[in-house]
Amino acid sequence: MTATIIDGTAIAAALRARVAAEVEALKRERGVTPGLAAVLVGDDPASQVYVRTKAKATREAGMLSVEHRLPADASEAALLGLIGKLNAQGDVHGILVQLPLPAHIDSAKVIEALDPGKDVDGFHPINVGRLASGASAIAPCTPTGCVLLAKSVRADLAGLEAVVIGRSNIVGKPMAQLLLAENCTVTIAHSKTRELPAVVRRADLVVAAAGRPELVRGSWIKPGAIVIDVGIQRVTGPDGKSRLAGDVAFAEAVEVAGAITPVPGGVGPMTVACLLRNTLEAAKARCQTLRV
Ligand code: NAP
Repeated sequence: MTATIIDGTAIAAALRARVAAEVEALKRERGVTPGLAAVLVGDDPASQVYVRTKAKATREAGMLSVEHRLPADASEAALLGLIGKLNAQGDVHGILVQLPLPAHIDSAKVIEALDPGKDVDGFHPINVGRLASGASAIAPCTPTGCVLLAKSVRADLAGLEAVVIGRSNIVGKPMAQLLLAENCTVTIAHSKTRELPAVVRRADLVVAAAGRPELVRGSWIKPGAIVIDVGIQRVTGPDGKSRLAGDVAFAEAVEVAGAITPVPGGVGPMTVACLLRNTLEAAKARCQTLRV
């Protein structure tokens, strides 16, 4: 069997186009332009690239994009002060604090300082709790994108055995909550899981988010399963050339799975598209509260 390749780039482009159309309608009908503020502390090159990519996508969707850069030695108080200002600012509907923050800043404290209605990353404890309790919530972007990718090949995920590899707060745990909300039977695996290959072999849907290049082998995949690969790491091959690798050994898994996401071009583009969607939804929710 050769799996269907789930084209994350195309699915993300379609989602971004739908968001842009809704942004246009919101501007026209309510006079509101959704705004996303990105906060970057320090000069980590990867974080700079992420913030730049998200800002460009925000502008392309017709939204307002503002960037706030603080030096690496900025105090926690200065950052909390900025968050307070952005919380109060009417033209900012979403706030994105690029992680990781420098070690001297308490990330949890910063996230808790966000207005939960502007927490477009879905990391605030109020959103985490609402998601876990099945209430409407702003859900984290990467796992939301994974659900959309899985549903692009199977509209109804109900009843599927789903195995999520990884239990981080930004991917694994919210992923499990979202799949539970889709009525999957969910197992969360992690570094202490015994017999991981056997656990994965049970799955109709595998979401790999371990950050371990090519951890999941083709022999672990149940024939016909949907495989969503969140991992993305730069590795050096035997030829000395560097390339991006996911958590799944793609060349092996593509022969067994029913559908699989590539790396790159799978989950990554969906994360950005879902951030735009969350910002649009945050702006729409604010309009309703204010009856603009
Ligand atoms: P993380 O915080 O490092 O969490 C990794 C999780 O994987 C942990 O729960 C860990 O278990 C588990 N794990 C590690 N090695 C394992 C193994 N050998 N077997 C089973 N489980 C194992 O990473 P993350 O932030 O969730 O990100 C995971 C990956 O996704 C990374 O490659 C990251 O770059 C990528 N990512 C991509 C996007 C995107 O948009 N494409 C977004 C976010 C993350 P323990 O809890 O037991 O340590």
